[in-house]
Amino acid sequence: MEKDGKKLLSVVVSVYNEELVLGDFYMETKQILESIAWDYELIFVNDGSQDTSLLKLEELVKRDVHVRLVNFSRNFGHEAAMIAGIDYSRGDGVICMDADLQHPPECIPKVIEKFEAGYGVINLIRTKNKDAGRLKNVTSAGFYKVLNLLSPVKFEANASDFIAISKSAADVLRNEYREKVRFLRGYVQSLGFPKTSISYEAKERRAGESKYSIRKLMKFSVNSLLCFSDMPLKLGVYSGIFMAMVGLILMIYTIYSKVVYGTPSGYATIVVLLCFMFSLLMIIMGIIGEYIAILFTEVKGRPIYIVERVEENKELEDCGEIPCLRK
Ligand code: UDP
Ligand code: MG
Repeated sequence: MEKDGKKLLSVVVSVYNEELVLGDFYMETKQILESIAWDYELIFVNDGSQDTSLLKLEELVKRDVHVRLVNFSRNFGHEAAMIAGIDYSRGDGVICMDADLQHPPECIPKVIEKFEAGYGVINLIRTKNKDAGRLKNVTSAGFYKVLNLLSPVKFEANASDFIAISKSAADVLRNEYREKVRFLRGYVQSLGFPKTSISYEAKERRAGESKYSIRKLMKFSVNSLLCFSDMPLKLGVYSGIFMAMVGLILMIYTIYSKVVYGTPSGYATIVVLLCFMFSLLMIIMGIIGEYIAILFTEVKGRPIYIVERVEENKELEDCGEIPCLRK
């Protein structure tokens, strides 16, 4: 979407109870956006904040023609907010970033350079995460190791939710990737398109608290793994073959001890084997259950997010139609 010969950059920001940082974020990002050669729109997706974030965003929409607000009817989660932002963006390039200034706006000019050079997917790779404790860094690295081991798609370790994609890549996400259980940064890496990366240092959260609890992170990691790999399902087959071999060896041993010593192996062996077999069965059933839960969610086909209202300054209207409203 070119306006006055300038390309348009859409910056998508997910906001959930960020009243303490919104002001800083807006000022710092705006300063950078004013200095780039592209025109820009700042799309704030309010993900059901219970604090004064919404009021602050409404104020920004009134004051600034570049700001658009997409207000969710309730909290749908960070990924849903990013997807909504991409759906509502009209830019030739889209950048998704967090509102807490952990994703430095100083990277935006570098991203524009990459867009100009024709890249379609730009991964912003975290070199350091000052906010995360040792445990979070180690588990994050472990997560990517397991994911790369199990999934046919190879992922860049330390890829974050700070992503930049071209209009064509955004169109693919808008039209083709409508899964309810999803792993957005994974999709982005598997899209293809000319790909490049920029590294950045994740700063400390400027204010407020992280919205990701350990429980949320665990759920997110399990779902992401299951979204990209059917390997866990095959675990049943492999462990079945393994157990059949163990059973065969045990059978030979039992016959042997009966023939040679006259005593077949005893009660303890049976108990141990039963415990082992049943726990294995339960684990496999659990894994199948997880996949069924995902299938159930997909089949129900409920929306990824529900928008209560969109607010924008009238002057933005000449930027063209909002892609997701065109259908
Ligand atoms: N966020 C959101 N919905 C949620 C949780 C978080 O839109 O349910 C937003 C949040 O406002 C922030 C971004 O997602 O802009 C990243 O969240 P956070 O900083 O809490 O995650 P962390 O950086 O600790 O992984
Ligand atoms: Mg953060």
